[in-house]
Amino acid sequence: MTCDVQLKERAGVINPIFTCQPAGAQFASIGIKDCIGIVHGGQGCVMFVRLWFSQHFKDNFLLASSSVHEDGAVFGALDRVETAVDVLLMRYPGVKVVPIITTCSTEVIGDDVDGVINKLNRGLLQEKYADREVHLVAIHSPSFVGSHVTGYDVAVESFVTYFAKKGVPNGKLNLITGWVNPGDVTALKHLLAEMQVDSTVLFEIESFDSPIMPDKSGESHGSTTIEDLTGTANAIGTIALNRYEGGKAAKYLEAEFDIPTIIGPTPIGIRNTDTFLQNVKKLTGKPIPESLVRERGIAIDALTDLTHMFLADKKVAIYGHPDLVIGLAEFCLDLEMEPVLLLLGDDNSSYKNDPRIKALESNVDYDMKIVLNADLMELESRIKNKEVELDLILGHSKGRFVSIDNNVPMVRVGFPTYDRAGLYRHPVVGYAGAIWLAEEMANTLFTDMEYKKNKEWILNMW
Ligand code: SF4
Repeated sequence: MTCDVQLKERAGVINPIFTCQPAGAQFASIGIKDCIGIVHGGQGCVMFVRLWFSQHFKDNFLLASSSVHEDGAVFGALDRVETAVDVLLMRYPGVKVVPIITTCSTEVIGDDVDGVINKLNRGLLQEKYADREVHLVAIHSPSFVGSHVTGYDVAVESFVTYFAKKGVPNGKLNLITGWVNPGDVTALKHLLAEMQVDSTVLFEIESFDSPIMPDKSGESHGSTTIEDLTGTANAIGTIALNRYEGGKAAKYLEAEFDIPTIIGPTPIGIRNTDTFLQNVKKLTGKPIPESLVRERGIAIDALTDLTHMFLADKKVAIYGHPDLVIGLAEFCLDLEMEPVLLLLGDDNSSYKNDPRIKALESNVDYDMKIVLNADLMELESRIKNKEVELDLILGHSKGRFVSIDNNVPMVRVGFPTYDRAGLYRHPVVGYAGAIWLAEEMANTLFTDMEYKKNKEWILNMW
């Protein structure tokens, strides 16, 4: 009866769970208003990432490429950055923030992106765009280390480091959400509004669920402003919900501007949402109102209806972003389920010392495996070899064929979830998220029961 943390033994990656760092930097960039990122690399480093975002959100996001070709890979491609910045500013008069996002190729050839930004600031921007506010922000995201999770973390830190500036205290709470969905932002803002807390949400991506307006505007973008980013240095506190997606920026604000900071927990499930609200209370002094106690009660009632009868003892595999996977595992444990296999798609050395993983190692009373640097082949082979017997899989849509081919029901959660409608609209955080997740898991198991005619009588007694 142990919880065992191990590295995937097989060399190479087959059907990866994660993609590369620049993708995460691009996700952070689209959260900022009046911002278009330039990815300094081949066109595919943008094209496939834009497609990935569009598949998930069913919306269109603007990102640009410096379009490096063979000659640039040999002789250096900084001239492509200069041209890209000029063309972008000409074509988009409203753009103010232009992150220059590096990739594997341009980091390997050693292009000096910080140097070219200095050159553009002293040259092009003064000569041709002197009447415009333009910020060029270097984001170093070589794809041969880390993953899109690391890239997101690095990008959030880069934006905060560039913009945060000490000024007059603004009385706001910085809320760094991590890589979430618009539905999560709505749920988090609701909790803060009930507590009457004024906040700066990084990044404010509720607007990714964008309307089609009469003027036919069809592009989605986040609504975090330059002023929001600047004001993070003047907040009363920072809460970063995810350790690996925004934790670096929170630590920077604490070290540089003495902003009291709390990192985690990811507010998935009742216990972690309770802790989140207590943390908000601690940093702001605002009480938790009766309305949220009532919401909590409704959630507990919904979970009680499902836990013992239907969810207890169900064996689950979970893969995806580390904070999400750990948060889901903690929630499953609270629902009396048994998360038996957790798969994290990179080998971040911090995982082994993560207090939440340490707590699982100390407290789990059945066999649980946590596999680092894992891929979807690892999940599939463990199912096929009968190393693990599963009732349910929780993960993003890239693992759908593991579920389909092996006849294990699956709840789509995380990013991307392109094979189910509208999931970006549903929160997994807060009390609302706890209800949605538990009911989604239960309904998925009920449907599976119908097809497999397995213990369907239980439903008839309900
Ligand atoms: S691995 Fe390198 S070449 Fe491929 S998309 Fe990522 S940054 Fe671009």
